[in-house]
Order: sequence, then structure tokens, then C-alpha cells
Amino acid sequence: MILGLAIAVVRRIVVPGMRRTTRPMDVYVMTLVGIILVSGVFLEATKIVSYTSFQEMVEEWASLDEDELEHLKAYWAEDFGVVFPEPVAATDPDALEMGKEVHEVSCASCHSKPTWAFLSYGVSKAIGPIAVTLTDARTQVGLWYLHFLVCFVGLAYLPFSKLFHMLSSPVSLLANAVMDTGASARANVVTRRAMELDACTHCATCSIHCSVGVVFRQIANETILPSEKLISLKAMASGKPLDGKELRRIQEGSYICTSCYRCTSVCPVGINLQDLWLSMREDLLRQGYPENAAWARHVLADRFGGALRDKNASVTPAAGDLQKDMTVSLQAETFSSCFECQTCTNVCPVVGNYENPRETLGLLPHQIMHSLGLGLENEALGNQMIWDCLTCYMCQEHCPQGVQVTDVLYELKNRAYARLTDEEA
Ligand code: SF4
Ligand code: SF4
Ligand code: SF4
Ligand code: SF4
Repeated sequence: MILGLAIAVVRRIVVPGMRRTTRPMDVYVMTLVGIILVSGVFLEATKIVSYTSFQEMVEEWASLDEDELEHLKAYWAEDFGVVFPEPVAATDPDALEMGKEVHEVSCASCHSKPTWAFLSYGVSKAIGPIAVTLTDARTQVGLWYLHFLVCFVGLAYLPFSKLFHMLSSPVSLLANAVMDTGASARANVVTRRAMELDACTHCATCSIHCSVGVVFRQIANETILPSEKLISLKAMASGKPLDGKELRRIQEGSYICTSCYRCTSVCPVGINLQDLWLSMREDLLRQGYPENAAWARHVLADRFGGALRDKNASVTPAAGDLQKDMTVSLQAETFSSCFECQTCTNVCPVVGNYENPRETLGLLPHQIMHSLGLGLENEALGNQMIWDCLTCYMCQEHCPQGVQVTDVLYELKNRAYARLTDEEA
């Protein structure tokens, strides 16, 4: 327990680059375990030094004359660390030897050396100078109540906390070992998934090995990380009400995943994370949260599509300084060289796929370049072409002006998505 608590704290505070977050539950659990440990250690330490505990023990279990009692006190003060309010009368080697004999006859069968409780024994030595005061103040009783109260709180909290994995992880491992997922009934698969949600130890091994973990450095969305995504999935599965903003974050994290299977292959508890991610996407889809680009495309079409459909719409530049903000691609500004020869549109396989591409795609590649030149932001962002582009680079390779058409379209897509998510933040 001590080792586990130390690892949990050190990994969070000291070890750099651990892709993990600390949630309120982690703090509660570490606090509870910490109180249990510290109160337990101090409880035992106050018991070691307590002369009243010694007296109770002697009264209950031994029948000694005055000499034997004095020798036993000397022996326990010397070897067991008991601190008596009055100095022990006999402390010479003979007295200690006689005390030892009394101890072996009356006490040894029940009491091992306190050094076995090495932490508490160390603490008992430290509190030695104030031991009598602590004993008289009945500190031991107070610590006893604190220790067991927190133990019971911890036990009651266990099924709702991450520590439940102590029970669920072995069961999940067993279920995964004996289940044939392909041949299992749907109800069994769902039950196994539910067990897996509780089996996670939050060790973050999956997040450390996640193929897109590096994206987390750029986009501060913890649901990109599999260990955190699992917690969000658990909240969704438990029916916890999540607002649109939270679901949007989960959606983003869920679809940034490349389904590479690495997290599943490294999970020490054998959780089939890949399977959970797929079911998560199904749940998101049912709740109206499709793949990120599909969502952005749909929202942007609703928001800016009117600018393309309305023949009488004003074509004045939008307020945003679009050209200046196109900075991700080093060559984004090349759109200003476009002289509208339409070569890019003519070679585009997407455009060629439609009988009436203007109607389906909104603006065609050469028109998008031209819109950018005019600073028409809504037109540039609100067309379907940027989402349908295959990034085949045909347009870019054929452009006589060296306009980096594909890169510009790609940047527009990223800008459109960033604008939507910024607005929702
Ligand atoms: S590797 Fe497995 S147990 Fe560890 S955090 Fe990831 S899902 Fe949980
Ligand atoms: S499957 Fe997804 S979550 Fe798992 S390691 Fe690959 S990218 Fe990361
Ligand atoms: S091929 Fe180049 S110059 Fe011609 S319309 Fe397209 S982007 Fe403009
Ligand atoms: S990169 Fe996109 S716009 Fe250019 S030709 Fe290919 S599909 Fe068309």
C-alpha cells in the first residue's frame, strides 16, 4: 500500500512526460489511502510507547508480584520502547535478564518485537520525549477512531472509486481468457465491456504508447489519451449526463484515434480497448456526434452555405483577415498568384466525378483560390469542396502559377474546424 501510494505520487509529481492527468477521484483516493496509512502508523507508534497499554496487558494476562513487574517494565522499556511516566527502578543487566524471563513466560507467546512494525517503531522513537503526554491525552484512542472511520469510508467508497479494479481486473482477465468474442452472444460481449471499464488500473501504459499521444501536446483535450478516454466512456456508459461541450471533446478525442491497436496490445489488464473505442463511436453517432470532419462540414454548410447559394449575397470581404491568418502551410499565401486559368479544377478527380460539381461542391478549387484573393472568408470556408478534397495533389502539380492548391485547401479545412471548436469553447 505504501509502495503503491508512493508510485502514484511520484509518477504525478516527479516523472516527466507521463501522459496522464490527475482527476478529483485520484486526489480523493490518494488522500484516503494516505490518511489510513499515516493514522495506522501513528496508532501503532502510540501503542508501542503507551504505558497504559502495558498496564492493561499486565492486569489482564499476567499475575506478577512487585519485583517481577518492575523487571518486566525495565525489559519492556529497554526492548519494546514503552515510555513510563516514572523512571524504571531497576535497569541493570541482571534486572533486564530477569525481566526477559518474565516476558518469555507471560508475554512472548502474544507479543513479537515492535521492530517488525518498522515504520511505527521509528515513529515511536521520534515521539519518545512526548510519549507520556500523548498517552495521558488518550491520543491512541483518537487515532483508533480516525483510522477505522477512514477505513470504513474507504471501504464504502471502493465500489465507486478507481480502486475497484483490485476486484474487477482479475475477473476481467479471466473473462477475456475464456471468452470467444466472435462467437459470444451480444449480451455477453456487453457484459465483458462493462467489466473492462471497471478493470482499468489507470496505469497510463496505453497513453504512453498511444500513436497519437503526441497530439495531446498541441490540443489540450485529455480524451485523446486512451487512459482518459476510458474514463469518459465509463461516464457515458453509466448514463451520467454530459453536456454538449463535454461530448464534443469526447468526439474530438475519439476520432483523433487512428485505431492502431497499440493501446490494446500493451494494456497489462488485457482490456480490449479497440473494441471499446468502436462502441464509443457508435454511442457518439447515436447521440448526434459523428466524425469530426463530418460534423464540421455539416455545421459549416448550415452556417455559410447561404453565402454560396444566395446569388444576391453581398461579396464583401468578411471581417476576419483571412489571408494574413493563413500561416500553417508555409506556402499558403501562394493563392494570391492565381490568375483563374481553371487548370486545377479541370484536373481534379473530385470535380470530374460530378455532372454539376458547382451544385454539389459549392465552390471549385479555382474559385476557392479566387475567394481567398478577395478575402471572402465565409465562401472559402463554407463550401463542400474543402471536405471532399482527396489531397491527391493533382491540382497543385498542374498549376502553372505554382499555387499550392492542395495545401491551401487542407489549411482551410483545419481553420474551419478550429474556428468551430474555438467558438464552442
Ligand atoms: S494500459 Fe490498460 S489498465 Fe493501464 S490505463 Fe490503459 S486501459 Fe487502463
Ligand atoms: S488505437 Fe487509438 S487510442 Fe489506441 S494507441 Fe492507437 S491511436 Fe491511441
Ligand atoms: S491552376 Fe493555379 S492559377 Fe490556375 S486557377 Fe488553379 S490555382 Fe489558379
Ligand atoms: S488535391 Fe483535392 S482539389 Fe486538388 S485535384 Fe486532388 S482532390 Fe482535387
